[in-house]
Amino acid sequence: MSYWNRVLGAPHTREAYAAFVRAQDERLGAFLEFDPERRNTADRGTEDGRGAGGHRRGVGLLAGLPVAVKDNIAVAGFRLTCGSRFLEALRCPYTATAVRRLEAAGARVVGKTNLDEFGMGSSTDNSALGVTNNPYDHARVAGGSSGGSAAAVAAGLVPLALGSDTGGSVRQPASFCGVYGFKPTYGAVSRYGLVAFASSLDVVGACARDLDTLEAAFAAMRGLDERDHSSLAPEADTGAGSAVPAGGAEVRAVGVLTGLEGLAPGVQAAYASTIAKLRGRGYELREISLNTLQYVVPAYYTIATAEASANLARYNGVRYGARPEMADNPDELVRTARDEGFGPEVKLRILLGTYVLRSGFQDQYYLRAQRIRTAIRNELNRAFEQVQVILTPTVPVLPFAHGEGELTAFEQKLADQFTATASLAGIPALSVPGEWADGLPVGMQLLAPAFAENRLWALGRELGEAGTPPDYPAFPEWAASAGYRLDLG
Ligand code: GLN
Repeated sequence: MSYWNRVLGAPHTREAYAAFVRAQDERLGAFLEFDPERRNTADRGTEDGRGAGGHRRGVGLLAGLPVAVKDNIAVAGFRLTCGSRFLEALRCPYTATAVRRLEAAGARVVGKTNLDEFGMGSSTDNSALGVTNNPYDHARVAGGSSGGSAAAVAAGLVPLALGSDTGGSVRQPASFCGVYGFKPTYGAVSRYGLVAFASSLDVVGACARDLDTLEAAFAAMRGLDERDHSSLAPEADTGAGSAVPAGGAEVRAVGVLTGLEGLAPGVQAAYASTIAKLRGRGYELREISLNTLQYVVPAYYTIATAEASANLARYNGVRYGARPEMADNPDELVRTARDEGFGPEVKLRILLGTYVLRSGFQDQYYLRAQRIRTAIRNELNRAFEQVQVILTPTVPVLPFAHGEGELTAFEQKLADQFTATASLAGIPALSVPGEWADGLPVGMQLLAPAFAENRLWALGRELGEAGTPPDYPAFPEWAASAGYRLDLG
């Protein structure tokens, strides 16, 4: 039986599924493009070297599973807007390796999701192309930058959605929407086909309501790709993870942070309750201190904006991006294209990145940030000698109202502290749902050493449980019992 039948119950069809998603998404705004049939007609070449990527039947958990893809990840036939006016008209001619591998395992791309422009932001409000609401409260943001992916999964429109995570962009919206959000070890999943934001930090990650789906997606996507020279084969794993036996039993001691300042009361309470839960289940909780935590946000924004300013130089209205109708000379053409094409947050980041990289000042900013990055990595490595996993809140604040009234753009950046820690260190991290404050989801973040993703699945299973947003069809009723876990035997 097809996924569509299992979900909606025979004799429902793909058309019924599509109608359901379209109706729900009118209020949610998760998708920039939804078209489950599109991949049937689009080019599905063989460029990943694994044979035809497209709609192979596949076996196992991912077979027939609809997947949504953040609109900064390439899928042939769909748009690739990055949430930007600049790329609004682009139809993408090729497919990201991560997507091809999911398709080879049987998953089907049904649409592209909204995001903060080029992945820059924490609210998805920085998208030039639409507004995405939090499914638990439409007046609030879904988080960002992968807000569309997290919201679509939370509202039950898809069981799996890809996002990109540079400083928290999968985990933070997952936390705000009450679903799992996973950032793999840097290099574990190919970035070929992911539009570059900050290349030393960017990873392809995913959101799901259950860990079986996430784990299967990671297993399908991971591994060496000759098109991305920063990608790594699982057998090349030399991090602490490889010394650890697979399975759940290896997590005994969990590191927790004390004396955290600036947590919203609801987040503080959720953190305490998670710690109590783990203690109750026999885990050893060890206090660890991360002295470098206070430098994470400045170091992250220095490195991320520096790399972004270089990566975004390609959008000049000539080779990439919308070209202005008229210009007197080439300089003016490029200037006008960039002025009209980019939104304010992207311009801010390009300016900041250019500033920190300007000649004579690299020492003061970029290189200093790199030294902080090394210190963060070293401090985490020392912590992982004592504990197998570190527990932090994913985000220090609750999902905030649209606009800047409740949390300014600057405060939104400060709230990246816990997620950006893992990004700077290149280690895997998982935001786990299951805690609540004022009716809103609060995610808890698990950190593990490079390539020790197994520990995240193990502890995530102990803790997590996705909810069902009010005003959306109770998820288990319409989907889970019918088979988000596929049983194609
Ligand atoms: N909020 C972070 C930023 O704005 C995260 C972005 C990301 O991970 N793409 O840079």
